[in-house]
Formats: sequence, C-alpha cells, structure tokens
Amino acid sequence: MQSHDTIIIGAGAAGLYCAMHAGQRGRRVLVLEHNDEPGAKIVISGGGRCNFTNLNANDPARYLSANPHFARSALTRHTQADFIALVQRHGIAFYEKTLGQLFCEGARSSPKIVRMLLDECAAGGVEVRTGCAVTAVRKAKRFVVETSHGAFESETLVVASGGLSIPKLGATPFAYRIAEQFGVPIVAPRAGLVPLTFAETDLHWMRALAGISADVRVSMGKTSFREAALFTHKGMSGPAILQISSYWALNHYLEIDWLPDLGEDVLVAAKRSQPLALPKTALSQHLPERLADILCGSHPPRPLGEWKDDALITFAQRALKRALLKPHGTEGYAKAEVTVGGVDTDALSQQTMEARAVPGLFFIGEAVDVTGWLGGYNFQWAWSSGWAAGQAC
Ligand SMILES: Cc1cc2nc3c(=O)[nH]c(=O)nc-3n(C[C@H](O)[C@H](O)[C@H](O)COP(=O)(O)OP(=O)(O)OC[C@H]3O[C@@H](n4cnc5c(N)ncnc54)[C@H](O)[C@@H]3O)c2cc1C
Repeated sequence: MQSHDTIIIGAGAAGLYCAMHAGQRGRRVLVLEHNDEPGAKIVISGGGRCNFTNLNANDPARYLSANPHFARSALTRHTQADFIALVQRHGIAFYEKTLGQLFCEGARSSPKIVRMLLDECAAGGVEVRTGCAVTAVRKAKRFVVETSHGAFESETLVVASGGLSIPKLGATPFAYRIAEQFGVPIVAPRAGLVPLTFAETDLHWMRALAGISADVRVSMGKTSFREAALFTHKGMSGPAILQISSYWALNHYLEIDWLPDLGEDVLVAAKRSQPLALPKTALSQHLPERLADILCGSHPPRPLGEWKDDALITFAQRALKRALLKPHGTEGYAKAEVTVGGVDTDALSQQTMEARAVPGLFFIGEAVDVTGWLGGYNFQWAWSSGWAAGQAC
C-alpha cells in the first residue's frame, strides 16, 4: 500500500490550496479526485472568469455559519491580500468588477487559476491523482483510504470534497458521510445562492416578466441586499435573490423595495409635477415598464391628480417599498452555487480545521458549515481554510 504524510480528498479550490501549502512545507501529499480534471468549479466559476476573491473578504459578517465567529481566524491569518499576491506572482491579470469582486481578465480565463494551483502543487512535490474515486476511509494507527485505484495510507487526512451543489460537476455527500462515520456533527445542509421558485399565484405574473431585471433592495429580517433581481420562468434569480436565498427559510416572506433610491412619497411627488399621468406611467420612469404595469395592476387606472396623498403613500408602502413575496422553494442543488450548512464548526479547531475529537482528520472548504456571500467570498473561504489546514496537516 502506498504511504503518504497527508492525503487530501478532492482537487477543488480548498484541496489544491491546502495541498500546495502542505507540500511546500515538506509534507509528502497525495490529492485524490474522482473527476477526470481538477478544479471543475473553478473553471466554470464567475462565468469563466473566476471571481477568485473579494476586497472585503475578511469581514466575517459576510459568511453564514451556526457559529458566526468561526471563520474569523482563518480569514484574518490568510487574507485576500495573500491570494492576490499569489495571482500577481503568476502574472494573471485581473480587475475589480463591482462591490470589491475580483475577476480574472479575459474570456475563459479561469483555467489560469487552476494552472497556478497545479504549478504550486508541483513545486511542493504534490501528487494529484484524477479519475480516482474515494469510496471508504478507516483509521487504525494511520488513515487508510480505499479508492477506485486501490488503497492508500497516510498520517493525516484532509476532507476537501465540497458540498452538494451541482452534482453534474462531481459534488457528493462524501464529506458528511466521513463526518458521521467519525462522530463529527453536521449542520443540516441546504441549497444556497440559488434561484427561488414561486407558487402559481405569483408565477403567473412573474412569467410575464421573465428576462426583465430591476435594481432592488431585498430583505429577510435584518439582512438585506441591494443588487439586481431577475424574473425567470420559475420565479426569481439575479444577484439580490441569490444572496437572500442563503438566508431564506421555508414559509418566510421576503420584503422587496422596488424603488430603493426613492421615498414612500414617490407618487405624491409625481402627482405634483404630472397630475394627469397614471401611476404606472410615473413609475415607468424608475422601473421597467412591464413591471410598473404589473405592480399597479389591481388599481383602477385613474390619473394621479384624482388620488388622495394618503392613498398614494399607502399604495407605495404596500406595493413598492415594502412588497411582500413568499417563495415556494428553490431550484435546488442542480442550480445552487453553494451548500449552506455542513460539518459543524463546533467540532473543529478554528486555527487548523482539525476535528477536535479525531486527531489527524481535517475538514476544509465548502464541506464545512461556513458559506460566503456571492462575490468571491466562497473561494476566499476555500483558500483561507485550505491554508490553515495546510500549515498543520
Ligand atoms: C456555477 C458556480 C459558479 C461559482 N462561482 C464562484 C465565484 O465566481 N466565486 C466564488 O467565490 N465562488 C464561486 N462558486 C462557489 C465555489 O465554486 C465553491 O464554494 C468552491 O469551489 C468550494 O471549493 P471546495 O474545494 O470546498 O469544493 P469543490 O470545488 O466542490 O471541490 C470538491 C472536489 O471534491 C471532489 N470529490 C467529491 N467527492 C469525491 C470522492 N468521493 N472522491 C474523490 N473526489 C471527490 C469533487 O469532484 C470536487 O472536485 C461557484 C459555484 C458554482 C457551482
């Protein structure tokens, strides 16, 4: 049986980043990946340009976890600046798109990030075996890993096999199975950064708007996002909706502000300047016309001048500024960018990502109950948690 210091399961962002650091520390590292190519999600990420980090990525408030403080240690010890420096050393051009999001420059440029990680792994003497599915793990004195290429053993084992999103890219529940086997608790996983679906009562008007987007503020309790929302044939998507989906729970309402730059007196002001205009005409100066039409739909088409100010304010509050929408569900793991939940952080060391009760066993990346916002935060978590484990595994 081949023997290594460290075996890493999964050649995604977290696994490769952990491997290069462990290898460059002098550890003999083997990475096992069941896909034929490493880094499948990196390649397709950011529309092929890989949004590899965010300038605000070390703010722990931008990550969801049952323990909101857990991610702080790794994120502040190995930051976006460290990853940016690596990208610069490899001569990969990048730019800030919006809201601190850093993307590689040029169409189909994300494979450059995979190449960079593989070059760094090679510099550390790391062996990356692809087309090799891990089927079982046991621990005697050392870890024994059963695979489609036979058995391997190691002193430490890093589980970097990700979450459940996009099964067709190789996602499996393997990390949760290993956690259960070793008595490490799991926070129930669910789809995050995912389009939301709606029941027929809403869907009939949403379908009519499919393809139309608007700049909105969407809120769930105290959490809110100001970005674009997009109507689809199944409901709603777009960055604002993907962001809030990670916080949404079944049977809860979302509150939408369709006019985040305007006050509740928007129509009263319009009444003063254009008393003969219909509300939908006034609104279509700020919103896509078809959306304005639908938001005003149930009201009689009377000119603004015929409305009392109070009625216009009440209408703006209910239909425009604090509109309530109740999603019916999500489009599920097939369309989710991430999995919320995963290996319970209470069972892991914040410094090293090692399972407290199982010396030598580490969990990193999306497998862990730390989920970032849209915009490069999830890769930064993969890099920071991979680095933390890479110092210790
Ligand atoms: C469409 C899409 C776009 C995204 N864009 C961005 C973006 O621009 N910016 C951002 O920050 N985040 C983005 N994300 C999220 C980001 O890709 C993930 O958070 C990140 O890849 C997680 O890294 P990971 O290494 O933990 O898991 P993964 O990248 O999922 O890697 C896990 C690896 O383990 C392998 N594996 C699983 N089970 C086994 C097994 N039993 N044996 C062997 N191998 C196994 C898998 O094949 C996979 O290669 C995107 C996600 C998707 C789906």
